[in-house]
Amino acid sequence: MSKKAAIIIGAGIGGIAAALRLAAKGYDVSVLEKNSEAGGKMAQFTQKGYRFDMGPSLFTLPHLVEELFALFGKRMEDYLGVVELPMTCNYFFPDGKIIKAWSNRDKFLDEVQNSGVSRQVVEEYLEKQSFLYTHTADFFLFNSIHKPSTFVGDAGKKSLKALHKLDVFTSMHQRNKRTFGESYLVRLFDRYATYNGSDPYRAPATLNMIAHLEHNTGAWFPKNGMYGILNALKKLAEEEGVRFLFNTEVIGLVTSGREVTGVRTGDCIYPASLVVNNTDITLFYRDILPNNNKLRKLMKRERSSSALIFYWGMKVKSELDVHNILFSNDYEAEFIGLFKTKLFADDLTVYIFISNKVVPDDAPNGCENWFVMVNAPENVGQDWQEEATRARELIISKINTVLNMDVEKVIEFEQILTPEDIEERTGSVHGSLYGHSSNSPLAAFLRHPNFSRRYKNLYFTGGSVHPGGGIPLCLASAKIVDGMID
Ligand SMILES: Cc1cc2nc3c(=O)[nH]c(=O)nc-3n(C[C@H](O)[C@H](O)[C@H](O)COP(=O)(O)OP(=O)(O)OC[C@H]3O[C@@H](n4cnc5c(N)ncnc54)[C@H](O)[C@@H]3O)c2cc1C
Repeated sequence: MSKKAAIIIGAGIGGIAAALRLAAKGYDVSVLEKNSEAGGKMAQFTQKGYRFDMGPSLFTLPHLVEELFALFGKRMEDYLGVVELPMTCNYFFPDGKIIKAWSNRDKFLDEVQNSGVSRQVVEEYLEKQSFLYTHTADFFLFNSIHKPSTFVGDAGKKSLKALHKLDVFTSMHQRNKRTFGESYLVRLFDRYATYNGSDPYRAPATLNMIAHLEHNTGAWFPKNGMYGILNALKKLAEEEGVRFLFNTEVIGLVTSGREVTGVRTGDCIYPASLVVNNTDITLFYRDILPNNNKLRKLMKRERSSSALIFYWGMKVKSELDVHNILFSNDYEAEFIGLFKTKLFADDLTVYIFISNKVVPDDAPNGCENWFVMVNAPENVGQDWQEEATRARELIISKINTVLNMDVEKVIEFEQILTPEDIEERTGSVHGSLYGHSSNSPLAAFLRHPNFSRRYKNLYFTGGSVHPGGGIPLCLASAKIVDGMID
């Protein structure tokens, strides 16, 4: 009997994970991707001897990648080496204070002891985040909350029983402020809201659990860079018979009654007995399966933040770590800029990621590859050239002051990525990194389902649908889809 054909629209990490899961189920899988290569937001480029991961730089929950290899009786380590980072992040505060967030819990607690908060308070806080994660993950991250059966299963019962302890109606910042008072740790833990493009002053405190991932389960890094994850999964997929069709933009679905029977590109129809969409859900209802009603509702929801990134080839060997944060003076003003005025604030928190601290070949000898990022508002037609010029000045002045150096003198290569570029390259509407924001309990927990209510063989994976954005959640979305298909 010939295999049933499954089509995945988009070769983002969520799409590739879904492709693998369907291949493991015996489907004949094709991934149709509009770009000339796989990865979507998870891209890379090499120029003048420097290799840069263009998108994600933080990697938690590697077991979700491992699971995909295990589906075929294979081992992740034969395709992808990962190392646990001794330090999750190196934080620089405006007054000169430095906090090294060691992965080792005891070492981190020692480090923060002189930050105005007792060791016990921090320890209890991390335990609380662990509680939040263990009481929500099975229900929320690995199940469809759009199916009534999820609520009556064990995971649902566990979460519902703990509902009053899940901190849904307090903001992340309120909880952190109540816990840490005026300490540096408020800022340090507020920052986790940006891991899904949200605002700590509005996002529910349940999301403080994001800190649990780095502080309690560890921060990891692939030995050949973040794109190594993508390459490893793509290689596995090809070995397992998944076909990738690049430069192949899907422009519509072919339907019959309550079924999708294929997808349309400019010059072809690809028949399918099952379709998984991995493109931004708003783009999907705008361009692929136009639906004004759904589109209007999706467009009404606040989108997550975007990013402005400077990829700098640096003729320098710095004292920095893999992940470094240089905080601004006024964190709240940055989020007003991100979500209200949609322009950069006058002082910006700067993130510097240097992969060649782990991957020596990512930069020439004696040099470093700096990925310098500031959170940016979604693209609503700002003049990005002007915004990038202004942000660049702010960034350079901050780095010079905090790190006591003359940055401009050592930049020997520069490339810039704006929210507009992100939108253009990946199809993410308004260049948002994580689909919609999680700036309210409803927004955080109620995203588009992983299945279509109208078409019984149409599914959704990736960062703009349940459970949300970021590599682990995209992988979780594919797992949820897997659970819905025989
Ligand atoms: C700068 C940046 C930094 C980030 N940092 C982190 C981080 O540190 N940690 C983390 O976990 N996450 C991070 N993220 C988020 C993470 O990258 C995303 O959540 C994740 O990669 C999204 O994957 P996805 O499966 O939703 O697919 P996407 O990456 O959104 O890919 C969708 C694919 O669909 C394709 N497509 C679109 N339209 C069509 C069409 N009509 N036909 C065919 N193909 C189409 C696109 O070309 C694209 O390849 C970051 C993202 C960015 C951009």
